[in-house]
Amino acid sequence: MPYTDNIRKVTPYVPGEQPKVTGDLIKLNTNENPYPPSPKVKQAIEALPVETMRLYPDVTAAPLAKALAAYHGLKEEQVFVGVGSDDVLATCFLTFFAGKKPVLFPDITYSFYDVWAELYRIPYETLPLTEDFRIRADDYKRENGGIVIANPNAPTSIAQPLPFIEEILTENHDSIVIVDEAYVDFGGETALPLLKKYKNLVITRTFSKSRSFAGMRIGYAMADETLIEALNNVKFSINSYTMNCTAIAYGVASVDDEPYFKKTIAKIVATREKTAEALRELGFTCLPSSANFLFASHKNVPAEEIFTYLKSRNIYVRFFKKPRIDNYLRITIGTDAQMERLIAELRGFLETK
Ligand code: PMP
Repeated sequence: MPYTDNIRKVTPYVPGEQPKVTGDLIKLNTNENPYPPSPKVKQAIEALPVETMRLYPDVTAAPLAKALAAYHGLKEEQVFVGVGSDDVLATCFLTFFAGKKPVLFPDITYSFYDVWAELYRIPYETLPLTEDFRIRADDYKRENGGIVIANPNAPTSIAQPLPFIEEILTENHDSIVIVDEAYVDFGGETALPLLKKYKNLVITRTFSKSRSFAGMRIGYAMADETLIEALNNVKFSINSYTMNCTAIAYGVASVDDEPYFKKTIAKIVATREKTAEALRELGFTCLPSSANFLFASHKNVPAEEIFTYLKSRNIYVRFFKKPRIDNYLRITIGTDAQMERLIAELRGFLETK
């Protein structure tokens, strides 16, 4: 048997392109925040003694877990911190989906879920969204080994209200339900109030979008203490020291600046609404967004053509060549000036059609 037979075969997740941001390039393809992190983070960077790096960091990122617990009104033991929510979600898949029944999630959702399921050999089934890209609660009332719902969903940008999440939870006491709230700060309704009532609920969040920390890599999960303990047991079986000391310190500084956080989000939401309106005037349909991006389709011109044109003009948006969504563009909300240039480029292009 050749040694290559022993190599695990995987089809990896493909993230959006990361072109060098130089000159007039506008990057609206990976849902990053166009604004810098809180000025308090800059102060934390200057205040962190280099000496700290000599020592291993705290195994549970305790200062950050404590800050997040206080922020959300939870116990420190209810928070698990990881290297971005991808790390947190991957650990959740490995920890909570060890059964034989299929894990359920929508056919159109964050395209990392099936990659982790394949990697960890977790059985799964995807359930189609409705024609108008909504999740149907009834689909999740059947035997399963777990459920994953992104709320707001990606790349659709559509949020489901809290009673929808509770409906899924009431029907699924015997499986773990993960609610991925990567985009919740931009207008979704959090499942946090349900944590007390449902011991099988896990909520994941990220600092990458609303806290402008995509490059710093911080994500976290909130759940009952027993579930957090299970996550830590799995994590300690792979790599105890996932969070470096700088990320822990800067994360705490970010959580500490609520006014800046709120102000940045309000700006992005205002720009989103303005951009959606301008896109509609140009003949696009935008799904109702509760996220920091729009999912838009033009009535006449194919999405791929628009994507290619924008790229030639140094504007990067995301296009998924996948069934059902291959006539849509996912457009991250940038600054007002960036979105005005996007609209101007689109107007110019569409006039030639
Ligand atoms: N969940 C969803 C729905 C996302 O879109 C993303 C961003 N790609 C993530 C999780 C992961 O984000 P991060 O690892 O940067 O926290």
